[in-house]
Amino acid sequence: MTLDPSTVVVHAGRPERVPNAPVGESPVFSSTYVADGDRGYGRFGNDAWSALEVTLGELEGGRGLTFASGMAAAAAIVDLVPVGGRVVAPQHAYSGVLALLDQQAEQGRLTVTRVDVADSETVIQAVEEGDMLWIESPTNPAMEVADIPVIAAAGRAAGAVVVVDNTFATPLLQQPLQLGADIVMHSATKFISGHSDVVLGAAITADDALYEAIDLRRRSLGAIPGPMEAWLALRGLRTLALRLERAQSNSAFLAEKLQQHPRVSRVRYPGLEDDPGHERAAKQMSGFGAILSFELGGDAAAAQKLCESTKLWVHATSLGGVESMLERRRRWALEVPTIPDDLIRLAVGIEHPDDLWADLEQALNTAT
Ligand code: PLP
Repeated sequence: MTLDPSTVVVHAGRPERVPNAPVGESPVFSSTYVADGDRGYGRFGNDAWSALEVTLGELEGGRGLTFASGMAAAAAIVDLVPVGGRVVAPQHAYSGVLALLDQQAEQGRLTVTRVDVADSETVIQAVEEGDMLWIESPTNPAMEVADIPVIAAAGRAAGAVVVVDNTFATPLLQQPLQLGADIVMHSATKFISGHSDVVLGAAITADDALYEAIDLRRRSLGAIPGPMEAWLALRGLRTLALRLERAQSNSAFLAEKLQQHPRVSRVRYPGLEDDPGHERAAKQMSGFGAILSFELGGDAAAAQKLCESTKLWVHATSLGGVESMLERRRRWALEVPTIPDDLIRLAVGIEHPDDLWADLEQALNTAT
């Protein structure tokens, strides 16, 4: 029976249905296990990790490995690049990942070529020299959309390991392994956990050698998730389809409202028909997600004031929770300088759309 992903997300990774079995997996609070089994030690495995990993693996079409954070997963994946190797990475992507690559480049461990990930020709040219192609789509916070099938195929043909940070799309809206990637990475802190109460990461691959290589790094670098965090993330993941449905329809509504507002100079949301990423996103995603960004005509002070004037929207970093959040990304020194100073990222939650717009509208009016 082929199941819809919204069913898989509810049922995957559960214990066998035998009398007295629990319906869901529980965290095991043990730092070690009795000898002669296949688990050995608490740094190598936990039932709560396994249940989450099986669920993510089934959704993405590979085998999952969970980590202490999205950055821990990213660091383990970047560690696959041979010393002296080259990483082709987006000019705009999550600033923490870009900073990690810069730090490694400064140490002489690898070199980085930054590209506009939405410009396939440039990516294809650059990846000829690459050992790893790092893709993020849609990108944080510029909301650019990469042509994943085209650039992933070029990356593989060039012998590069192709990685997609799928945090914004979630495993329900985009499956990069089916689009040609070798590894998918998630900040499970975001939509997967969904309640802004967990920091966790994941890597998923269908390639056994890559799986072993990433697992080896998790064991040796030791960035493992806590059992409680993994269990909370799995509990959150069970409702992802429902949360996304509401957050996405809220996002589409807000994107249109913002586009019509005289104070707003630009909105980026792949669900808007005139968005530069719309056609690509419609092809490779089954929905447009719940993040959007907008600008206020270059007025960074007004953008900052807007973020500080909302009553319902939480002024905080992060995204993917049930509660809507906003921030001016350039308030962070680490954010890429080509991200406009007045760009506000909206992480849309599951509240009533009218309440979200009313609060945003009053904040927009305050910010003039
Ligand atoms: N990738 C993306 C797209 C993110 O937005 C983030 C965090 O904001 C990360 C990776 C890093 O994940 P974490 O904060 O769980 O370490």
